[in-house]
Amino acid sequence: MDKIALITGGSRGIGAATALLAASQGWAVAINYVRHAHAAEDIARQIRDAGGKAITIQGDVSVEADVITMFDTLDHELGPLTALVNNAGVVDHASRVDQMLGERLRRMFSINVLGSFYCAREAVRRMSTRHGGAGGSIVNVSSAASRLGSPHEYVDYAAAKGAIDVMTVGLAKEVAGEGIRVNAVRPGFIETEIHASGGRPNRVQELAPGIPMGRGGSAEEVAQSIVWLMSDASPYTTMSFLEISGGR
Ligand code: NAP
Repeated sequence: MDKIALITGGSRGIGAATALLAASQGWAVAINYVRHAHAAEDIARQIRDAGGKAITIQGDVSVEADVITMFDTLDHELGPLTALVNNAGVVDHASRVDQMLGERLRRMFSINVLGSFYCAREAVRRMSTRHGGAGGSIVNVSSAASRLGSPHEYVDYAAAKGAIDVMTVGLAKEVAGEGIRVNAVRPGFIETEIHASGGRPNRVQELAPGIPMGRGGSAEEVAQSIVWLMSDASPYTTMSFLEISGGR
């Protein structure tokens, strides 16, 4: 059976590294993005140039109709899904909870929590043996923030990732008998553009001295764990959390 993966937020950062690594291991990949079409196309082109199979699909994971269309496109263009990586996610500028506006909170939870739920639902409808599927794997990209709480920076982001952790536990148990494994990775400080989007492009270098390993991680280092959890190399691993945070 073909290995077919959907990677949300696959145009940049951890998602892009995951798409490239998965494709190098024989996965056909659907690269979802919301705004950066050129970045997504560039990753897909690199995969095709190397002899792999990749498509790009625009869609905002926080918009239910977009997610439904995205999965329909995937069905038609690649075939039956075997792995979902719930990677699309956002941070915001550093703020105390007593300063957070409703608009910020709605965006944070809509993208990071509702988006992952919409995608997980569509994936289970396709992969579960209960629905006639052949099984598969879901990897949620959580964060070390869910353990640490991110005080004075973004408690809302940490809480959204906490919700993803609980979803990982509950959904893993719910579909364990239906051929689907559900796991999560918890990256620490990883060198990607997400920090610039939160107003601190040098955040990883600034905070590196506080990391036991003394350095931030790379998107490729996170991708290694995600692709392992997606694959048949982890057949008895479900409801697990991999800390990819340099000991933090
Ligand atoms: P990034 O470099 O900022 O990339 C974010 C990706 O998500 C992009 O592909 C972006 O698409 C996509 N995206 C954003 N909002 C979206 C939406 N509403 N719908 C669909 N796609 C959307 O981020 P990253 O650092 O790789 O982070 C990836 C995941 O890892 C996130 O869940 C993040 O919370 C988590 N994480 C990151 C770190 C870290 O230090 N970097 C640490 C812990 C956890 P466009 O290119 O179209 O904008």
